[in-house]
Amino acid sequence: MMNIAWFEDLGKDDVGIAGGKGANLGELVRAGLPVPPGFVVTAQAYSYFLKESGLADKIMEILRSTDVDNNEELTKASQEIRELITSSPMPEALAKEILESYRKLSQRVGKEEEFVAVRSSATAEDLPGASFAGQQETFLNVKGDEVIEYVRRCWSSLFTPRAIFYREKKGFAHERVAIAVVVQKMVNADKAGVMFSVHPATGEKDKIVIEAAWGLGEGVVSGTVTPDHYVVDKASNKLLHKEIAVKEIMFTKDEKTGKTVKVKLSPERAKAQVLTEEELAQLAELGKRVEEHFGSPQDIEWAYEAGELYLLQSRPITVLYEKEAEEEEVSEAKEVLVKGLAASPGIGSGKVKVIFSVDELDKIKEGDVLVTTMTNPDMVPAMKRASAIVTDEGGMTCHAAIVSRELGIPCVVGTGEATKVLQDGMEVTVDGTRGVVYRGLTKVKEEKREEAAIVATPKIITATEVKVNISIPEVAPRVAPIADGVGLLRVEHLILGIGKHPMKFIREGREEELIEKIAEGVRKVAQPFYPKPVWYRTLDAPTDEFRGLEGGEDEPVEHNPMLGWRGVRRAIDQPELLRAEFKAIKKLVDEGYNNIGVMIPLVQHPEELRRAKEIAREVGLEPHRDVKFGIMVEIPAAALIIEEFIREGIDFISFGTNDLTQYTLAVDRNNERVAKLYTEKHPAVMKLIEMVIKACRKAGVETSICGQAGSDPEVAKKLVEFGISSISANPDAVQSIREMVARTEMRLLLDKAREG
Ligand code: PEP
Ligand code: MG
Repeated sequence: MMNIAWFEDLGKDDVGIAGGKGANLGELVRAGLPVPPGFVVTAQAYSYFLKESGLADKIMEILRSTDVDNNEELTKASQEIRELITSSPMPEALAKEILESYRKLSQRVGKEEEFVAVRSSATAEDLPGASFAGQQETFLNVKGDEVIEYVRRCWSSLFTPRAIFYREKKGFAHERVAIAVVVQKMVNADKAGVMFSVHPATGEKDKIVIEAAWGLGEGVVSGTVTPDHYVVDKASNKLLHKEIAVKEIMFTKDEKTGKTVKVKLSPERAKAQVLTEEELAQLAELGKRVEEHFGSPQDIEWAYEAGELYLLQSRPITVLYEKEAEEEEVSEAKEVLVKGLAASPGIGSGKVKVIFSVDELDKIKEGDVLVTTMTNPDMVPAMKRASAIVTDEGGMTCHAAIVSRELGIPCVVGTGEATKVLQDGMEVTVDGTRGVVYRGLTKVKEEKREEAAIVATPKIITATEVKVNISIPEVAPRVAPIADGVGLLRVEHLILGIGKHPMKFIREGREEELIEKIAEGVRKVAQPFYPKPVWYRTLDAPTDEFRGLEGGEDEPVEHNPMLGWRGVRRAIDQPELLRAEFKAIKKLVDEGYNNIGVMIPLVQHPEELRRAKEIAREVGLEPHRDVKFGIMVEIPAAALIIEEFIREGIDFISFGTNDLTQYTLAVDRNNERVAKLYTEKHPAVMKLIEMVIKACRKAGVETSICGQAGSDPEVAKKLVEFGISSISANPDAVQSIREMVARTEMRLLLDKAREG
């Protein structure tokens, strides 16, 4: 009988000895992949322990009298069994053998006692079709004699409530399942994470998805840290898109105790991109080697320590995107409640149950929508009853994401606020394909595949940037991968959403609160887009829109609010408000967001621009240095004297064609009686646009458009011909505009070549 097996003596067929993880590691070492060295305490050692200690019968007896669908009974049985295992002494010969092997391992890496990771490796786990995230334990930074204690704890993890439940439901016999334990040199990672050798949510085989955070990989795997998210092209190792997250904490080894601790990171470190392009390419290369070696898509844990890449774990991805044919559509529900990452595709609909701890699992009844901060393995029985799962935290590879995909339950993770926004008893629809939760129940119907996640569409590279307009900050993470920046961040919805007139905050001496609210909203956009530019437009809400707010009773009544007290003219008269906005931006700049631009609306004279800059400087926000500073061209006057604005100093202009059209044509944009006269394609509007683009190009000033016309492919074509620097479209139009831009650019080049 063999109690110990070294990695190099194991291979993929040794699952019965070393468990899934152990066999994999052996296989990887044999394949010459960069796996940290280690050994396995075999499944036979576990059986030997059970026999020697006389526990086997006692355990079976407890299980026989347990109803696993009853949470209380299940939890109690689990506790009893686990205590039996961890309190029974290990046979002496076995303990000696394990410790000797541990010392040998330490010597191999030049230490007397090296830190090791001790992980359980169940023999029924990791098999295709039965993979189960977090089903068993992992202990990090274990050292010396402690190894024995943690081996026993790993053994006991075979009897957690979810493991018992899972075996019952999948029909595995408890007595036949044995567990091995992997003991492996600890990699004290500087950065770590996970990698899928195919896209785990869409099933695309030509993409590799990598998630990364600072320090040990625990934060990523558990979902406690929202990781950077990268998609790499499998053929070229080129980065297709990335979402850089704010990684507020990291897990690392406390030098004194050797234990894993959570450390808060500085704002700079938190928002910094974890992986370089070279590292991404190196990882992608590794991913392909591992996939090729195993002959199937792999879910890989990796780490970098002092520049050295280590492969920590690999296992087959057991559930891929299988729903292409039966995709469903949200047909009736429309009001968006929360958004997050589309972690597991499909539509689920039901009553919300918010839970914060395992004690509340009984609340979840068949068909409910489970809402929680982050799921953990103990929640699995309840997750199985849920029609959909929504979490505040996590990335594509967090616990909730992996388990939901396996269970085939629609799931949205990383919403940031689901537990706050969604309330017990609310009827909602969860769209796991798009990462959105809507109000109301929905019947599901067939959906065409093309309408599925826009994120899955490969990005065409265009010289003219294609940006996106955002009014609702929560949309940002979803569109960040497909857009080159935000050409218009409208603050009006955010402020109107607070429900209270912003001046009321200021009058009541609560300016700080207002500033924090604005900063919070803008951060939600600047962060997923970082380092791509985000142009924040200062408040432009006409008096009639403000009047409805609490504290808005004093808004002046204007005959024509469209021509009235809005945009920069109001900001100058009421500088307290603009000051609060600039303070919010300053706050973000101080946090390290150097990707923010400020855009002043409804400017008609350079004097207004000068005054806006003064107000910025009053609060310590330096135009052109801290933020790019630009204006909207939406009044013909501004277009006609654009050179004077250039002389006053602007980094960019953006056409607000919604207003530019109404003011050029004298057609109220909100008046349906004259709506037939309202068109941005009117030659006068186009002439103003062309003129301004030419003047700005000459002066080296960036040009963009953020009015609705930018979402019209015909207009986009013209703008590219005029030489515009970027086009900002609505989220749903980004892709079609990008295609038109690409086609137009190519045609221009082709025409040029043919002329020559
Ligand atoms: C515009 O006028 O085109 C514009 C983008 O601003 P708003 O629609 O908010 O007036
Ligand atoms: Mg406008």
